[in-house]
Amino acid sequence: MSTTPLEAGPATLDRIRQYLVGLKMPRALEALEHILRRLERGELSALEAIDALLGEELTLREGRRIKAALKMGRLLSIKTLTGFDFSFQPSLDRDRIMTLAQLDFVDRHEVVHFLGQPGCGKTHLALALGVEAVKAGRSVYFATLADIVSSLAKAEREGTLRERLRFLCRPQLLIVDEIGYLPVIPGGGNLFFQLVNARYERGAMILTSNRGFSEWGDVFGGTVVASALLDRLLHHAVVVQIEGASYRLRRHAELMPDNNRSRPITAPPPAPRRRGRPPKARSADNEANP
Ligand code: ADP
Ligand code: MG
Repeated sequence: MSTTPLEAGPATLDRIRQYLVGLKMPRALEALEHILRRLERGELSALEAIDALLGEELTLREGRRIKAALKMGRLLSIKTLTGFDFSFQPSLDRDRIMTLAQLDFVDRHEVVHFLGQPGCGKTHLALALGVEAVKAGRSVYFATLADIVSSLAKAEREGTLRERLRFLCRPQLLIVDEIGYLPVIPGGGNLFFQLVNARYERGAMILTSNRGFSEWGDVFGGTVVASALLDRLLHHAVVVQIEGASYRLRRHAELMPDNNRSRPITAPPPAPRRRGRPPKARSADNEANP
């Protein structure tokens, strides 16, 4: 003869409550009454009730873990792939981004480059992949190039460069945003190279830039350091070129000068400022994984 949960007695129920307290399962404790009532009404089988109870607790914990990891990783502005309007960027292969979201590139310690004009969605995509990685249990850290370089320079001044490099090597995925908006501070190229070299083939990175690889000499204060960087950063790399216009300015397209509307940035820049292009840059796409 089977008994209903409440017939099993208040003593049993009390013990279950104590177990949940002892096991530090506050959400399950909270949900217990409601789940038992549904069980009594025959809305849930015993198995489904156990499933619901444990599921409640796990959902709460996962939510907390993700929230804490996003904060730790400085993924403060949350962007998602579902929130990305692919129809606005026809040059972008949605399947390619969805493949990246499977995170094999993280496990293979590869580098993903998002290149494009300001506002085309580079940071959005980098953050969204970062969020996917956090959800899947990978460690992620997000920073702008300027922040990374200044934190390395500060650590160098204070004699703690090794520790800082070790800290930035820890996350399985390091996102370096905004390469090229400003040239790095003197010596910054060298410091960033030390980081890239330390992570090379050991940890994945996502880099975003509004400058073509041929302009990295200007960004990093010299073609020697730029080609050393690109040598590492294009070896196991996926280059995603976004050729569309700014999403921020989508309602004001007619106000934009023509050359700001939609310009592929890896196309050779208009003649003057180029001083020697680092090797390998144009081969990046060929080396990229399909
Ligand atoms: P970038 O880093 O290339 O300068 P962002 O990723 O910061 O550009 O995008 C600028 C703003 O426009 C952000 O608020 C971003 O969420 C939004 N955005 C950009 N592209 C899209 C898109 N295709 N769909 C939805 N929102 C977008
Ligand atoms: Mg950006």
